Amino acid sequence: MTLPLRPFLVLDLDETLWYGVEAVNDEPVRFHLRPHLTRFLEQVAHDYDLAVWTAASGDWMHHGLEVLRAGTGFDLAGRAVFLWDRTRCSWRRGEDGELLWRKPVRKFRAGWMRARYPRGRILAVDDVPGNYVCGYGHLVRVTPWTGDASDTELLHLAAYLRSIVQAEDFRVLEKRGWRSRPRPSESQANPSCPGRARNSCHAARRRKAASGRRAGSRVKGNLR
Ligand SMILES: [Mg+2]
Repeated sequence: MTLPLRPFLVLDLDETLWYGVEAVNDEPVRFHLRPHLTRFLEQVAHDYDLAVWTAASGDWMHHGLEVLRAGTGFDLAGRAVFLWDRTRCSWRRGEDGELLWRKPVRKFRAGWMRARYPRGRILAVDDVPGNYVCGYGHLVRVTPWTGDASDTELLHLAAYLRSIVQAEDFRVLEKRGWRSRPRPSESQANPSCPGRARNSCHAARRRKAASGRRAGSRVKGNLR
């Protein structure tokens, strides 16, 4: 089998690419786009196939993607391999009663995905690490954005993602602290310890069982 040339990048939306404000009284829903979003999307689309996975509702996602297209000229909805909303997420109650969403990466094992994208070539960008508690190896965590006009996260993120695009298995790259981390060398791009990433989910489950902790995102309103 010939490996696909392009890796796969699964993007979160809220507080990652935009900040949405729900409708209040006569005020309509508003989506504020993160600084440098246009440049980010154009650059990563050059190297990666893109998809969207949000814990928000489908209505919220599609509304925001229309605003994104109008504001950036980039048709993310049209170019995405899939658009997954909260119906593709799972949820559990945390110990304090919060409703916590999860993005179960077992969905990356679907036959059609495996045929196009080996799991080691799938990255996920998200501001809530708990969403990927069973798939940290895929995660590139970004700082949540709530409107700071001087934010440069997406500029740095695009450069980082492009720097690792040739890695054979993203899951074994140490991606924590990516913003200040030197760009990976050839040796990092050809990992020697793939078992570590494959076991990350099981390790996370053991930690969760021991602590009873449930970390993740909060449910934000009805529309989302
Ligand atoms: Mg988010």
